[in-house]
Amino acid sequence: MKSPPFSSFMHEIYNYLKNNEPWNNLHQEMSIVIIGAGFAGASCAWWLARLGAKDVTVIEREEMPGLHASGLNAGFARRFEEDEKVAPLASEGVDFITNPPRGFVDGPIIEHKGSLLLNAPKNIIGPHHKIISKKVASKMVPPLESAQFKETLWTPTDGIVDIHKYLWAFINGAKANGVRFLTSCNIVKFNVIARAPARSNPRREIASLTLAMTGKTFEINSNIIVNASGAWLQEIATLAGSEDLLIKPFRRHLFSTPPMKEADSNWPFVWDVKNQFYFRPESGGLLLGACDEDEVRPGAPLVDPKIKELLAEKLLKYCPAISNVSIAREWCGCRTFAPDKRPVIRFDKKTKNLFWLGALGGRGMTCASSAGRMAAEMIMKRTRSW
Ligand SMILES: Cc1cc2nc3c(=O)[nH]c(=O)nc-3n(C[C@H](O)[C@H](O)[C@H](O)COP(=O)(O)OP(=O)(O)OC[C@H]3O[C@@H](n4cnc5c(N)ncnc54)[C@H](O)[C@@H]3O)c2cc1C
Repeated sequence: MKSPPFSSFMHEIYNYLKNNEPWNNLHQEMSIVIIGAGFAGASCAWWLARLGAKDVTVIEREEMPGLHASGLNAGFARRFEEDEKVAPLASEGVDFITNPPRGFVDGPIIEHKGSLLLNAPKNIIGPHHKIISKKVASKMVPPLESAQFKETLWTPTDGIVDIHKYLWAFINGAKANGVRFLTSCNIVKFNVIARAPARSNPRREIASLTLAMTGKTFEINSNIIVNASGAWLQEIATLAGSEDLLIKPFRRHLFSTPPMKEADSNWPFVWDVKNQFYFRPESGGLLLGACDEDEVRPGAPLVDPKIKELLAEKLLKYCPAISNVSIAREWCGCRTFAPDKRPVIRFDKKTKNLFWLGALGGRGMTCASSAGRMAAEMIMKRTRSW
Protein backbone atom coordinates (compact mmCIF):
# COMPACT_ATOMS: atom_id res chain seq x y z
CA MET A 1 0.00 0.00 0.00
CA LYS A 2 1.31 3.47 -0.90
CA SER A 3 1.99 5.78 2.05
CA PRO A 4 -0.62 8.51 2.31
CA PRO A 5 0.75 12.06 1.86
CA PHE A 6 0.27 12.96 5.52
CA SER A 7 2.54 14.77 7.95
CA SER A 8 4.44 12.32 10.16
CA PHE A 9 1.97 12.87 13.03
CA MET A 10 -1.05 12.12 10.80
CA HIS A 11 0.81 9.13 9.47
CA GLU A 12 1.19 7.75 13.01
CA ILE A 13 -2.56 8.17 13.57
CA TYR A 14 -3.37 6.54 10.24
CA ASN A 15 -1.16 3.55 11.06
CA TYR A 16 -2.50 3.39 14.58
CA LEU A 17 -6.14 3.23 13.54
CA LYS A 18 -5.33 0.79 10.72
CA ASN A 19 -3.51 -1.61 13.04
CA ASN A 20 -5.54 -1.08 16.20
CA GLU A 21 -6.09 -4.12 18.39
CA PRO A 22 -9.54 -5.57 17.73
CA TRP A 23 -11.78 -5.38 20.76
CA ASN A 24 -12.89 -9.00 20.40
CA ASN A 25 -9.26 -10.18 20.88
CA LEU A 26 -9.49 -9.37 24.59
CA HIS A 27 -8.86 -12.16 27.01
CA GLN A 28 -10.15 -12.13 30.54
CA GLU A 29 -6.98 -12.39 32.64
CA MET A 30 -4.36 -9.65 32.25
CA SER A 31 -1.22 -9.13 34.31
CA ILE A 32 -0.92 -5.36 34.14
CA VAL A 33 -3.49 -2.86 32.92
CA ILE A 34 -2.47 0.77 32.46
CA ILE A 35 -5.25 3.37 32.40
CA GLY A 36 -4.32 6.25 30.08
CA ALA A 37 -2.12 6.49 26.97
CA GLY A 38 -0.58 9.90 27.63
CA PHE A 39 3.13 10.32 28.37
CA ALA A 40 2.78 8.65 31.79
CA GLY A 41 0.98 5.51 30.61
CA ALA A 42 2.87 5.16 27.32
CA SER A 43 6.29 5.54 28.96
CA CYS A 44 5.41 3.11 31.75
CA ALA A 45 4.23 0.57 29.15
CA TRP A 46 7.46 1.00 27.17
CA TRP A 47 9.62 0.52 30.27
CA LEU A 48 7.60 -2.45 31.52
CA ALA A 49 8.06 -4.18 28.16
CA ARG A 50 11.78 -3.34 28.23
CA LEU A 51 12.09 -4.83 31.72
CA GLY A 52 10.47 -8.04 30.51
CA ALA A 53 6.90 -7.67 31.79
CA LYS A 54 4.49 -9.90 29.94
CA ASP A 55 0.86 -9.25 29.18
CA VAL A 56 0.65 -5.47 29.53
CA THR A 57 -2.47 -3.69 28.23
CA VAL A 58 -2.99 0.08 27.95
CA ILE A 59 -6.56 1.33 28.00
CA GLU A 60 -7.35 4.74 26.53
CA ARG A 61 -10.80 6.31 26.62
CA GLU A 62 -10.25 8.53 23.58
CA GLU A 63 -10.16 7.30 19.99
CA MET A 64 -6.42 7.78 19.98
CA PRO A 65 -3.63 8.56 22.44
CA GLY A 66 -2.37 12.06 23.18
CA LEU A 67 -5.58 14.08 22.92
CA HIS A 68 -5.17 15.65 26.37
CA ALA A 69 -2.17 17.21 28.17
CA SER A 70 0.36 15.02 26.36
CA GLY A 71 -0.67 16.33 22.96
CA LEU A 72 -1.37 19.92 23.99
CA ASN A 73 1.75 20.99 25.88
CA ALA A 74 4.44 23.55 25.10
CA GLY A 75 7.14 20.97 24.35
CA PHE A 76 9.69 22.63 26.60
CA ALA A 77 12.23 20.17 28.06
CA ARG A 78 14.03 21.80 30.95
CA ARG A 79 16.57 20.62 33.46
CA PHE A 80 16.09 23.31 36.09
CA GLU A 81 13.79 22.71 39.04
CA GLU A 82 13.14 24.25 42.43
CA ASP A 83 12.33 20.92 44.10
CA GLU A 84 15.40 18.82 44.90
CA LYS A 85 13.39 15.61 44.67
CA VAL A 86 12.11 16.36 41.18
CA ALA A 87 15.35 17.85 39.76
CA PRO A 88 16.97 14.43 39.08
CA LEU A 89 13.80 13.28 37.28
CA ALA A 90 13.90 16.33 35.02
CA SER A 91 17.58 15.91 34.28
CA GLU A 92 17.21 12.19 33.55
CA GLY A 93 14.23 13.02 31.34
CA VAL A 94 16.17 15.51 29.22
CA ASP A 95 19.12 13.10 28.99
CA PHE A 96 16.78 10.41 27.63
CA ILE A 97 15.21 12.80 25.11
CA THR A 98 18.68 13.93 24.02
CA ASN A 99 20.18 10.44 23.72
CA PRO A 100 17.34 7.94 23.47
CA PRO A 101 18.22 4.24 23.29
CA ARG A 102 19.11 2.92 19.84
CA GLY A 103 16.00 2.14 17.78
CA PHE A 104 13.69 4.24 19.97
CA VAL A 105 12.98 6.82 17.27
CA ASP A 106 14.24 7.87 13.82
CA GLY A 107 16.19 11.12 14.07
CA PRO A 108 16.28 13.66 16.89
CA ILE A 109 13.23 14.55 18.98
CA ILE A 110 14.69 17.68 20.57
CA GLU A 111 16.13 20.92 19.22
CA HIS A 112 18.63 22.26 21.74
CA LYS A 113 17.79 25.93 21.48
CA GLY A 114 18.44 26.47 25.18
CA SER A 115 16.38 28.41 27.68
CA LEU A 116 16.53 31.84 29.30
CA LEU A 117 14.96 32.01 32.74
CA LEU A 118 14.33 35.62 33.72
CA ASN A 119 13.91 36.62 37.36
CA ALA A 120 14.51 33.03 38.49
CA PRO A 121 14.43 32.19 42.21
CA LYS A 122 17.83 31.68 43.86
CA ASN A 123 17.15 28.06 44.85
CA ILE A 124 16.87 26.76 41.30
CA ILE A 125 18.60 23.38 40.78
CA GLY A 126 19.94 22.07 37.51
CA PRO A 127 23.20 21.30 35.75
CA HIS A 128 24.69 23.17 32.80
CA HIS A 129 23.27 26.60 33.50
CA LYS A 130 25.08 29.90 33.93
CA ILE A 131 24.07 33.45 34.68
CA ILE A 132 24.29 35.94 31.83
CA SER A 133 23.63 39.68 31.69
CA LYS A 134 20.60 41.35 30.15
CA LYS A 135 22.90 42.71 27.43
CA VAL A 136 24.06 39.23 26.38
CA ALA A 137 20.52 37.79 26.60
CA SER A 138 19.15 40.65 24.48
CA LYS A 139 21.71 39.89 21.80
CA MET A 140 20.23 36.39 21.58
CA VAL A 141 16.60 37.58 21.71
CA PRO A 142 16.41 41.32 20.82
CA PRO A 143 12.86 41.91 22.21
CA LEU A 144 14.29 41.19 25.68
CA GLU A 145 15.82 44.67 25.66
CA SER A 146 12.32 45.85 26.56
CA ALA A 147 11.87 43.27 29.37
CA GLN A 148 12.33 43.84 33.10
CA PHE A 149 15.33 41.87 34.43
CA LYS A 150 18.98 42.42 35.28
CA GLU A 151 20.44 39.01 34.57
CA THR A 152 19.12 35.64 33.51
CA LEU A 153 19.79 31.93 33.79
CA TRP A 154 21.00 30.46 30.48
CA THR A 155 20.72 26.67 30.05
CA PRO A 156 21.99 25.71 26.59
CA THR A 157 21.08 22.01 26.97
CA ASP A 158 17.34 22.69 27.39
CA GLY A 159 15.24 22.50 24.25
CA ILE A 160 12.02 22.10 22.34
CA VAL A 161 10.67 18.59 21.83
CA ASP A 162 8.60 17.21 18.97
CA ILE A 163 5.96 16.00 21.43
CA HIS A 164 3.95 13.86 19.02
CA LYS A 165 7.03 12.09 17.70
CA TYR A 166 8.16 11.48 21.30
CA LEU A 167 4.81 10.12 22.53
CA TRP A 168 4.41 7.85 19.50
CA ALA A 169 7.94 6.52 19.94
CA PHE A 170 6.90 5.18 23.36
CA ILE A 171 3.65 3.76 21.96
CA ASN A 172 5.21 2.15 18.88
CA GLY A 173 8.13 0.78 20.92
CA ALA A 174 5.78 -0.69 23.53
CA LYS A 175 3.55 -2.21 20.83
CA ALA A 176 6.57 -3.73 19.08
CA ASN A 177 7.38 -5.46 22.39
CA GLY A 178 3.93 -6.95 22.82
CA VAL A 179 2.00 -4.26 24.73
CA ARG A 180 -1.67 -4.05 23.70
CA PHE A 181 -3.31 -0.62 23.28
CA LEU A 182 -7.11 -0.46 23.42
CA THR A 183 -8.62 2.89 22.47
CA SER A 184 -12.21 4.15 22.86
CA CYS A 185 -12.21 2.02 25.97
CA ASN A 186 -13.48 3.29 29.32
CA ILE A 187 -13.61 1.79 32.80
CA VAL A 188 -17.05 1.71 34.34
CA LYS A 189 -16.48 -0.49 37.38
CA PHE A 190 -13.43 -1.31 39.49
CA ASN A 191 -13.72 -3.98 42.20
CA VAL A 192 -11.06 -5.68 44.24
CA ILE A 193 -11.80 -9.34 44.72
CA ALA A 194 -10.05 -11.95 46.85
CA ARG A 195 -9.29 -15.39 45.55
CA ALA A 196 -7.12 -18.30 46.61
CA PRO A 197 -3.51 -17.63 45.61
CA ALA A 198 -2.26 -19.91 42.86
CA ARG A 199 1.37 -20.82 42.16
CA SER A 200 1.21 -18.83 38.93
CA ASN A 201 -0.29 -15.88 40.77
CA PRO A 202 0.66 -15.57 44.44
CA ARG A 203 -1.34 -12.33 44.88
CA ARG A 204 -4.49 -12.89 46.89
CA GLU A 205 -6.26 -9.84 45.63
CA ILE A 206 -6.95 -9.06 42.04
CA ALA A 207 -8.76 -6.17 40.44
CA SER A 208 -11.87 -6.87 38.45
CA LEU A 209 -12.60 -4.20 35.87
CA THR A 210 -15.65 -3.65 33.73
CA LEU A 211 -14.60 -2.01 30.48
CA ALA A 212 -17.01 -0.34 28.10
CA MET A 213 -16.79 0.44 24.41
CA THR A 214 -19.66 1.73 22.25
CA GLY A 215 -22.34 0.08 24.31
CA LYS A 216 -20.53 -3.25 24.83
CA THR A 217 -19.07 -4.20 28.20
CA PHE A 218 -16.36 -6.67 29.05
CA GLU A 219 -15.13 -8.02 32.42
CA ILE A 220 -11.40 -8.49 32.95
CA ASN A 221 -9.23 -9.42 35.92
CA SER A 222 -5.80 -7.97 36.49
CA ASN A 223 -3.05 -8.22 39.11
CA ILE A 224 -1.92 -4.62 38.80
CA ILE A 225 -3.74 -1.54 37.57
CA VAL A 226 -1.62 1.52 36.82
CA ASN A 227 -3.59 4.72 37.23
CA ALA A 228 -2.00 7.00 34.61
CA SER A 229 -5.20 8.84 33.78
CA GLY A 230 -3.82 12.40 34.04
CA ALA A 231 -6.53 14.86 35.07
CA TRP A 232 -8.82 11.92 35.99
CA LEU A 233 -6.42 10.32 38.53
CA GLN A 234 -8.62 11.07 41.50
CA GLU A 235 -11.79 9.91 39.70
CA ILE A 236 -10.24 6.50 38.97
CA ALA A 237 -9.07 6.31 42.58
CA THR A 238 -12.61 7.00 43.79
CA LEU A 239 -13.93 4.27 41.49
CA ALA A 240 -11.36 1.89 43.01
CA GLY A 241 -12.07 2.95 46.62
CA SER A 242 -8.46 4.10 46.95
CA GLU A 243 -6.77 6.93 48.83
CA ASP A 244 -7.88 10.52 48.32
CA LEU A 245 -4.62 12.29 47.46
CA LEU A 246 -6.39 15.58 46.66
CA ILE A 247 -4.94 15.58 43.15
CA LYS A 248 -6.48 18.31 41.02
CA PRO A 249 -6.31 19.52 37.41
CA PHE A 250 -5.52 23.15 36.60
CA ARG A 251 -6.15 24.71 33.19
CA ARG A 252 -3.35 26.30 31.18
CA HIS A 253 -3.71 28.19 27.87
CA LEU A 254 -1.25 28.45 24.98
CA PHE A 255 -1.30 30.85 22.03
CA SER A 256 0.45 30.80 18.67
CA THR A 257 1.01 33.62 16.22
CA PRO A 258 1.13 33.44 12.43
CA PRO A 259 4.64 33.52 10.93
CA MET A 260 6.26 36.91 11.68
CA LYS A 261 9.47 38.36 10.31
CA GLU A 262 10.67 39.58 13.74
CA ALA A 263 10.69 36.03 15.19
CA ASP A 264 13.88 34.01 14.80
CA SER A 265 13.47 30.22 14.81
CA ASN A 266 16.79 29.93 16.69
CA TRP A 267 15.61 31.83 19.75
CA PRO A 268 15.65 29.87 23.00
CA PHE A 269 12.64 29.30 25.25
CA VAL A 270 12.16 32.48 27.33
CA TRP A 271 10.36 32.29 30.66
CA ASP A 272 9.91 35.20 33.05
CA VAL A 273 9.36 33.37 36.33
CA LYS A 274 8.43 36.41 38.42
CA ASN A 275 6.04 38.02 35.95
CA GLN A 276 4.72 34.68 34.73
CA PHE A 277 4.77 34.61 30.95
CA TYR A 278 6.77 32.69 28.36
CA PHE A 279 7.41 32.50 24.64
CA ARG A 280 9.43 30.50 22.14
CA PRO A 281 9.71 30.19 18.35
CA GLU A 282 7.04 28.07 16.64
CA SER A 283 6.44 27.53 12.88
CA GLY A 284 7.93 30.87 11.85
CA GLY A 285 6.06 32.77 14.58
CA LEU A 286 5.85 32.45 18.36
CA LEU A 287 4.17 30.21 20.89
CA LEU A 288 3.24 32.14 24.05
CA GLY A 289 1.68 31.55 27.43
CA ALA A 290 0.51 33.70 30.35
CA CYS A 291 1.14 30.93 32.95
CA ASP A 292 -2.56 30.88 33.96
CA GLU A 293 -3.54 28.25 36.51
CA ASP A 294 -7.28 27.93 37.27
CA GLU A 295 -8.62 24.83 38.98
CA VAL A 296 -11.03 22.96 36.69
CA ARG A 297 -12.95 19.70 36.64
CA PRO A 298 -11.20 16.78 34.91
CA GLY A 299 -11.95 16.93 31.19
CA ALA A 300 -11.21 18.98 28.09
CA PRO A 301 -11.49 22.54 29.42
CA LEU A 302 -12.92 25.38 27.34
CA VAL A 303 -10.80 28.34 26.26
CA ASP A 304 -11.41 31.40 28.44
CA PRO A 305 -11.16 34.62 26.34
CA LYS A 306 -9.96 36.51 29.44
CA ILE A 307 -6.61 34.70 29.32
CA LYS A 308 -5.79 36.25 25.93
CA GLU A 309 -6.39 39.65 27.55
CA LEU A 310 -4.18 38.64 30.47
CA LEU A 311 -1.39 37.70 28.06
CA ALA A 312 -1.72 41.03 26.21
CA GLU A 313 -1.55 42.93 29.52
CA LYS A 314 1.54 41.02 30.66
CA LEU A 315 3.38 41.51 27.36
CA LEU A 316 2.57 45.22 27.31
CA LYS A 317 3.87 45.60 30.84
CA TYR A 318 6.83 43.24 30.92
CA CYS A 319 8.00 42.79 27.29
CA PRO A 320 6.43 45.56 25.17
CA ALA A 321 8.57 44.74 22.13
CA ILE A 322 6.36 41.71 21.41
CA SER A 323 3.08 43.10 22.74
CA ASN A 324 1.60 43.77 19.30
CA VAL A 325 1.68 40.12 18.11
CA SER A 326 -1.53 38.80 16.58
CA ILE A 327 -2.87 35.46 17.80
CA ALA A 328 -3.72 32.83 15.18
CA ARG A 329 -4.64 29.95 17.45
CA GLU A 330 -5.35 29.36 21.14
CA TRP A 331 -5.97 26.19 23.11
CA CYS A 332 -5.81 24.90 26.67
CA GLY A 333 -5.30 21.68 28.60
CA CYS A 334 -5.02 20.38 32.15
CA ARG A 335 -1.85 20.29 34.21
CA THR A 336 -2.48 18.01 37.16
CA PHE A 337 -0.95 18.51 40.61
CA ALA A 338 -0.85 16.88 44.04
CA PRO A 339 -0.92 19.41 46.92
CA ASP A 340 2.90 19.23 47.33
CA LYS A 341 3.35 19.61 43.54
CA ARG A 342 5.40 16.40 43.40
CA PRO A 343 4.64 13.52 41.04
CA VAL A 344 2.85 10.57 42.63
CA ILE A 345 4.64 7.32 41.74
CA ARG A 346 3.72 4.52 44.13
CA PHE A 347 1.27 1.78 45.09
CA ASP A 348 -1.96 2.88 46.74
CA LYS A 349 -2.13 2.21 50.48
CA LYS A 350 -5.76 1.04 50.44
CA THR A 351 -6.21 -0.68 47.08
CA LYS A 352 -3.02 -2.72 47.08
CA ASN A 353 -3.00 -3.55 43.38
CA LEU A 354 -3.54 0.03 42.22
CA PHE A 355 -0.36 1.90 41.26
CA TRP A 356 -0.39 5.71 40.96
CA LEU A 357 1.57 7.32 38.15
CA GLY A 358 0.71 10.94 37.62
CA ALA A 359 0.35 14.45 39.03
CA LEU A 360 3.23 15.31 36.71
CA GLY A 361 2.24 18.98 36.75
CA GLY A 362 3.98 21.23 34.25
CA ARG A 363 6.88 18.89 33.45
CA GLY A 364 5.22 15.60 32.56
CA MET A 365 6.63 15.56 29.05
CA THR A 366 10.14 16.33 30.34
CA CYS A 367 9.91 13.68 33.08
CA ALA A 368 8.00 11.10 31.01
CA SER A 369 10.85 8.63 30.65
CA SER A 370 12.19 8.96 34.21
CA ALA A 371 8.74 8.73 35.83
CA GLY A 372 7.81 5.78 33.58
CA ARG A 373 11.08 4.00 34.36
CA MET A 374 10.66 4.50 38.08
CA ALA A 375 7.08 3.22 37.98
CA ALA A 376 8.02 0.17 35.90
CA GLU A 377 10.92 -0.70 38.22
CA MET A 378 8.73 -0.39 41.30
CA ILE A 379 6.03 -2.53 39.69
CA MET A 380 8.62 -5.15 38.76
CA LYS A 381 9.91 -4.98 42.39
CA ARG A 382 13.34 -3.72 41.49
CA THR A 383 13.42 -0.59 43.62
CA ARG A 384 11.73 0.75 46.71
CA SER A 385 9.53 3.81 46.67
CA TRP A 386 11.25 7.10 45.85
C1 LIG B 1 -0.84 23.82 28.20
C2 LIG B 1 0.17 22.88 28.79
C3 LIG B 1 1.52 23.14 28.64
C4 LIG B 1 2.46 22.25 29.15
N1 LIG B 1 3.79 22.46 28.88
C5 LIG B 1 4.71 21.53 29.24
C6 LIG B 1 6.06 21.68 28.86
O1 LIG B 1 6.43 22.63 28.17
N2 LIG B 1 6.95 20.74 29.27
C7 LIG B 1 6.57 19.65 30.01
O2 LIG B 1 7.42 18.83 30.35
N3 LIG B 1 5.27 19.47 30.36
C8 LIG B 1 4.34 20.38 30.00
N4 LIG B 1 3.03 20.22 30.35
C9 LIG B 1 2.67 19.09 31.22
C10 LIG B 1 2.54 17.77 30.48
O3 LIG B 1 1.86 17.95 29.26
C11 LIG B 1 1.78 16.78 31.36
O4 LIG B 1 2.40 16.72 32.64
C12 LIG B 1 1.77 15.37 30.79
O5 LIG B 1 1.37 15.38 29.44
C13 LIG B 1 0.83 14.50 31.61
O6 LIG B 1 0.76 13.24 31.01
P1 LIG B 1 -0.28 12.16 31.56
O7 LIG B 1 -0.06 10.94 30.76
O8 LIG B 1 -0.17 12.09 33.04
O9 LIG B 1 -1.72 12.81 31.27
P2 LIG B 1 -2.59 12.89 29.90
O10 LIG B 1 -1.78 13.31 28.76
O11 LIG B 1 -3.79 13.72 30.24
O12 LIG B 1 -3.03 11.40 29.65
C14 LIG B 1 -4.00 10.75 30.46
C15 LIG B 1 -4.83 9.88 29.54
O13 LIG B 1 -5.71 9.08 30.34
C16 LIG B 1 -6.90 8.91 29.62
N5 LIG B 1 -7.97 8.52 30.55
C17 LIG B 1 -8.49 9.25 31.57
N6 LIG B 1 -9.47 8.56 32.20
C18 LIG B 1 -9.57 7.36 31.56
C19 LIG B 1 -10.40 6.21 31.75
N7 LIG B 1 -11.34 6.16 32.69
N8 LIG B 1 -10.23 5.15 30.92
C20 LIG B 1 -9.29 5.19 29.94
N9 LIG B 1 -8.48 6.26 29.71
C21 LIG B 1 -8.61 7.32 30.52
C22 LIG B 1 -7.14 10.28 29.00
O14 LIG B 1 -8.02 10.20 27.88
C23 LIG B 1 -5.73 10.70 28.62
O15 LIG B 1 -5.42 10.39 27.27
C24 LIG B 1 2.05 21.09 29.87
C25 LIG B 1 0.69 20.84 30.04
C26 LIG B 1 -0.25 21.71 29.49
C27 LIG B 1 -1.72 21.40 29.65
